[in-house]
Amino acid sequence: MSSQTAQLLDGKALAQRIQEELAQQIQTLQAQNQRLPGLAVLMVGDNPASAAYVRNKERACQKVGIASFGRQFPTETTQAEVEQAIQALNQDDRVDGILVQLPLPEHLDAVALLNQIDPSKDVDGLHPVNMGRLVRGEPGLRSCTPAGVMRLLQEYQIDPKGKHAVVIGRSILVGKPQALLLLEADATVTIAHSKTQNLAAIASSADILIAAIGRPGLITADMVKPGATVIDVGINRITDYEGKSYLVGDVEFETVRQVAEFITPVPGGIGPMTVAMLLSNTVQSYHQQHS
Ligand code: NAP
Repeated sequence: MSSQTAQLLDGKALAQRIQEELAQQIQTLQAQNQRLPGLAVLMVGDNPASAAYVRNKERACQKVGIASFGRQFPTETTQAEVEQAIQALNQDDRVDGILVQLPLPEHLDAVALLNQIDPSKDVDGLHPVNMGRLVRGEPGLRSCTPAGVMRLLQEYQIDPKGKHAVVIGRSILVGKPQALLLLEADATVTIAHSKTQNLAAIASSADILIAAIGRPGLITADMVKPGATVIDVGINRITDYEGKSYLVGDVEFETVRQVAEFITPVPGGIGPMTVAMLLSNTVQSYHQQHS
């Protein structure tokens, strides 16, 4: 282990700067008496973690001047009712972005609902059209969390070109789009998952290691190449023996920071970048509706 500790990739500070830039753009629109960008976050049920994420997104919208058209539905809401709400928002000219907060209650078909969103308003980048554009390397709305990772790497001039990037996790939300964005940036990409054999050997060959797993502290120092960049996407709530609860990532931060050159903290790393990219996608979609 090196005696140096890794430099922190400060997602919170960068997200703050991105939000200030967006707020300035929106103030200019306001001064010109133009319509302001609008975002609708739809939530079904009362999952407390989802409710906190939705509040956080709405607060961020308010801070930068994006109008919120969010709706909260009771758990027993039917598929048809949510579909109708999405269709109405697709037609609503005040709305540039529509996001369905996941997970949904079990009786609802999340994929079918996401497919109802007009791809030009799909600020989460999860619609098959936007996923297809990503696969083809065409411009489109990119998934917020992986886009946030790429923006943070860029900020610290960590160029993935020619590097071995290992993404652990293959979800539609994070792992798969992350791998494609890294490929687009000319990294050599390996995707690992729960069935991967020799995870430690694969992880420790990464120049850029991205953990998007949802397992607290799974990535330990022996799984990290000295000098690697470690991006911790995981957000896990754990409770200590006194009953106090904390957010931790998928990376064992204190030991891994002794080995890595760069590392993201949790909280304060990719979480705030995800919200900043959501706002940025909403403004991008606004400009596209106007062009
Ligand atoms: P997910 O859909 O549950 O996917 C988890 C992935 O990790 C799966 O591909 C799974 O493999 C893999 N995995 C699980 N256990 C593993 C193990 N022991 N070894 C190797 N791979 C393993 O989760 P997600 O939505 O991608 O989210 C991942 C984490 O990121 C969660 O902690 C979530 O809270 C967090 N997250 C954070 C943000 C943010 O803003 N920072 C945004 C979204 C998600 P299989 O495919 O084989 O099951």
